[in-house]
Amino acid sequence: MTRGFIPAARPVIGSAERDAVDAVLASGMLAQGSEVAAFEQEFARDLLDGRSVVAVNSGTSALHLGLIAAGVGPGDEIIVPSFTFAATANAVALTGATPVFADIRRTDYTLDPTHVESLVGARTRGIMPVHLYGHPADMGGLERIAAEHGLDIYEDAAQAHGASLHGRLVGTFGRFGAFSLYPTKNMTSGEGGMASTRDPELARTMQLLRNQGMAKQYANEIVGFNARMTDVHAAIGRVQLAALPGRTKARRTTAQFFDANLRGVGLPTVGDGVVHVYHQYTITVPEDRDGFAAALREEYAIGAGVYYPTPVHRLPAFDGQERLPNTEWAKDRVLSLPVHPSLDDEDRERIVTAVNALARAGA
Ligand SMILES: *Cc1c(COP(=O)(O)O)cnc(C)c1O
Repeated sequence: MTRGFIPAARPVIGSAERDAVDAVLASGMLAQGSEVAAFEQEFARDLLDGRSVVAVNSGTSALHLGLIAAGVGPGDEIIVPSFTFAATANAVALTGATPVFADIRRTDYTLDPTHVESLVGARTRGIMPVHLYGHPADMGGLERIAAEHGLDIYEDAAQAHGASLHGRLVGTFGRFGAFSLYPTKNMTSGEGGMASTRDPELARTMQLLRNQGMAKQYANEIVGFNARMTDVHAAIGRVQLAALPGRTKARRTTAQFFDANLRGVGLPTVGDGVVHVYHQYTITVPEDRDGFAAALREEYAIGAGVYYPTPVHRLPAFDGQERLPNTEWAKDRVLSLPVHPSLDDEDRERIVTAVNALARAGA
């Protein structure tokens, strides 16, 4: 333990990001403009097979505006996982619709299609899978249910930039997809989000919604928000997008090393045909997960995260009483190890040594 603390997450910001921001500041044009337009084009080209994307000020806004543009509102039910960040259900609830919480699979922590289907009722309007930790949800299973019951799919791809399933990128399955550009995500713009869609009308409505309902200044067509991305943030995002393939590769290299060398803990499973982008590398610790995390931090100077300690439906904001056994199982056992792209070989070795020692000790 000669070296410093290894944090659970660490955004990589370099001189290229600083130079890009400086150039925008020097231009005097700070709000949504040419940088945002260029960022949208590049994001669509690199991560979404060229479909329409709309840049907004957060991943939550991308979900929220997408839902409103899709016509979701009071009286509708949207099936969401509870084992996710609260933003997934918040976006649904803020439209006036009701989030209906479904259980996950223990293998990859994404929505369990069988349980989803059991929750479909007369008011169900759509399903919002989360590609949790960078692993795509079971889109085949969910698409079959959606087709059978006439439902929409809206993808929460906040954690899964560049992940794919049988060669198809996340964000290209749903009526819309939403990405987050928060600092700890696989790429960042500071704060920001991207919504993707194949439907030009939906894209146009999202563009209106982010800008007070205006396409032309002072000719407001609908009621809207100010959910615009600034050119300052887009400039950071463009640099991060160009660096994403290398950083995803680093995450995957770390994951392979962990897969091959960790002992005595549950390892993440990767589904058939999946390209996992390891937003998190999440192990399961069968007993006293919190004690294990504390020992990692205190004895080995390694940070680890619990995503998420309280299922969303149990939060005071939702106060649901549903029984979701796999969600309850996961929330007590999951532990996400550092997998960020700035880890080097020595860090990886240190993490493996520490986890294996604690697992052996039965900590
Ligand atoms: C981060 C995140 C969001 C929200 O993104 P923000 O950019 O923070 O608003 C939504 N869903 C999931 C699963 C997330 O991890």
